[in-house]
Amino acid sequence: MSDPVELERVSVALDGQPILHGVDLTVPEGSWVTVIGPNGAGKSTLLRAVGGLVAFGGAIRLFGTPLRRLPRRDRARLVATVAQDPVVPPGMAVLDYVLLGRTPYIAPLGRESATDLAAVDAVLERLDLAGLAGRRLESLSGGERQRAFLARALAQGASLLLLDEPTTALDIGHQQDVLDLVDQLRRDGGLTVLSTMHDLSVAGGYADRLVLLVDGRLVAAGPPREVLTEQLLSEHYRARVTVVDTGHGPLVVPVRPARSAPTPS
Ligand code: ADP
Ligand code: MG
Repeated sequence: MSDPVELERVSVALDGQPILHGVDLTVPEGSWVTVIGPNGAGKSTLLRAVGGLVAFGGAIRLFGTPLRRLPRRDRARLVATVAQDPVVPPGMAVLDYVLLGRTPYIAPLGRESATDLAAVDAVLERLDLAGLAGRRLESLSGGERQRAFLARALAQGASLLLLDEPTTALDIGHQQDVLDLVDQLRRDGGLTVLSTMHDLSVAGGYADRLVLLVDGRLVAAGPPREVLTEQLLSEHYRARVTVVDTGHGPLVVPVRPARSAPTPS
C-alpha cells in the first residue's frame, strides 16, 4: 500500500512570494508526523498544499494518487483538515456544523442517513460536546469551538487527518483529551496524522516523527529526541532553551538570561 502522503520537491508561492522551497516529505501509514518551526516558516502553507487548498510545484501524492488527479469528493473521503483559523458559519448550530463533515457521503440534494447521524453523535460524545449540540458556534468559547472544528473533521471518517495547531485554544485537560483521542484513533488503526504544533514538548509527546521547517525549507527530520535538541532549537528559533529528557519524551524549557546580582543598597 502506498504511503498516505508523499511530497517531492514541493514549492509554493503566494502572491508571487516563494514560501516553500523543494520540500520532500513522506508520512507512512498509521504514523503521526508533526511539522514544527518558527512563526511564518510555512507550516500552515505546507498543510494547505497537502489538503489541495493552494497551488504548488513538484509532486504531492495521497495514498499513491497524484493530488491533482483526485476529484474533490474522493479527496474529502480521504483527507480531513482542521485549519488554524477555520471560518465560522454565522448562526450555525454545533450539530449542523459537525454534520457538514458527512457531506462527502451524502448524495447531492440528498439527506443525511441514520449512519451519518450516528457518526456525528459518537464524535460529539467523544469530544465532550453532546451538551452543546444545539448551541450556535459563535456562542462557544474558543476551546469549545476548537473541539467543534475537530469534531467536524473526525465525523468525516477520513484516513488522513491534517491538523494545523489543533490545541492552541485548549486548556491542558482538553488539550490532552483531544490529542489522546486522535492518538487512540490512530492506534486503533486506519488513521494517519500530519499536524503542525506550536508547543514543542507537546509536539514531541505525540508525534513519532518531527520535521523542522525554517524559511520554507526542511532543515531536520526524525524522532522527537533527534529534532528537539538545544543546538537545533537555539539555531533555528534563536531561543535559549534547555531540553530535559523526562522518559516521556523531551521537555523543552525556555531559559531566562542570567540576571546580575542585585546591588546591595
Ligand atoms: P506558519 O504557519 O509557519 O506560521 P504560514 O504558512 O502561515 O506560516 O506563512 C508562511 C509565510 O507566508 C509567512 O511569511 C506569511 O506572511 C506568508 N503568507 C501567508 N499567506 C500569504 C499570502 N496570501 N500572500 C503572501 N504571503 C503570504
Ligand atoms: Mg500556521
